[in-house]
Amino acid sequence: MSQKINLLNLTKKELGDFIVEKGMKKFYGKQIYNWIHKKYVRDINDMSNISLKDREMLLELAYIPFLNLLKYQVSKVDRTEKFLFQLEDGKSIETVLIRTKDRNTLCISSQVGCAVNCDFCATGINGFARNLELSEILNQVYTVERRLIKQNENLTNIVYMGMGEPLLNFENVIKSLEMFSDEEGINISKRKITVSTSGIIPGIEKLLERKIHVELAISLHSAIDQKRDLIMPINKTYPLIDLHTTLVAYQKQTNRRITFEYLLLNNVNMSEGDANALANFVHDFDHMVNLIPYNPVEGKPYETPAEKKIEKFLSILEGKRKVNVSIRTTKGTDIDGACGQLKRKVEKDNK
Ligand code: SAH
Ligand code: SF4
Repeated sequence: MSQKINLLNLTKKELGDFIVEKGMKKFYGKQIYNWIHKKYVRDINDMSNISLKDREMLLELAYIPFLNLLKYQVSKVDRTEKFLFQLEDGKSIETVLIRTKDRNTLCISSQVGCAVNCDFCATGINGFARNLELSEILNQVYTVERRLIKQNENLTNIVYMGMGEPLLNFENVIKSLEMFSDEEGINISKRKITVSTSGIIPGIEKLLERKIHVELAISLHSAIDQKRDLIMPINKTYPLIDLHTTLVAYQKQTNRRITFEYLLLNNVNMSEGDANALANFVHDFDHMVNLIPYNPVEGKPYETPAEKKIEKFLSILEGKRKVNVSIRTTKGTDIDGACGQLKRKVEKDNK
């Protein structure tokens, strides 16, 4: 039996080629792309400007997949919405909608699990399963956008900050962000799309080579190699000095501000020495440092620091060292907090 083609896994060019190859009119390529990526239809029968005969042929040859919503939670505190989606092979991923006054930001996953294995993170606990397909990345955005449209709202920003390391699923992540920023699709500018990475240097270099000027967030968490090695073993492969050099090149080419994420881990990375190392690292960049109070993960030895300690760390950075810094308020604390945690809860409840 020949397998049906997943139309959502095709780029605009691939879809166009497929349409021509099957003997359909060339301009159908654009129309079908529009139905899928702008109108978010999931039923080929709904493509009303495609002839009945060609719709029937498409139904034989192809399909457009859904994401199955396994669990949905909405925060009473800040209206954050969490979606746990089931994939075709039964695996699941998380997507989070964060609402602020003037933005609807969707935090999407790029992999099932993660191989980077940062010591503090829930996503890596069960290891790495697989990369997400292009259609699985797109569908997180399209599913939530469809819900928002019904409420007369839209997504305004996308962040690759859910499960997984986006730069280790490079091709599908890049295809998805090119499609998100395409005028014939959801049309969210690359200035409003952020890729968050643990510092995969070859991935950043590939962005440079291909001149893909997306917003970059670097999960730094320590600017001292010996410490970063312990909490983020990836630092042994891509140490701070090399990361710094690559980021200088990235900023030179893109002219974009770089965001540095810095988890606040009590008694681990919050001393005066840590603050100074952080200030030295970001000094050369047009930067923003986001301080993120740790969201506790069961079974991990890390703690969230007390308010006073956060203030002290902040005052060193802002005062003496003139670092641009903001504290990320944790969203959706009443609905199982940070990335990877909703999924773990569902898995536990089902045991
Ligand atoms: N793999 C990418 C993107 C996904 S992780 C990366 O690491 O950048 C998104 C962000 O959540 C990262 O900055 C990560 O360090 C942070 N994070 C992981 N576990 C966390 C936790 N328990 N509490 C708060 N932030 C966490
Ligand atoms: Fe992977 Fe990011 Fe979690 Fe590290 S913090 S294990 S890179 S998802």
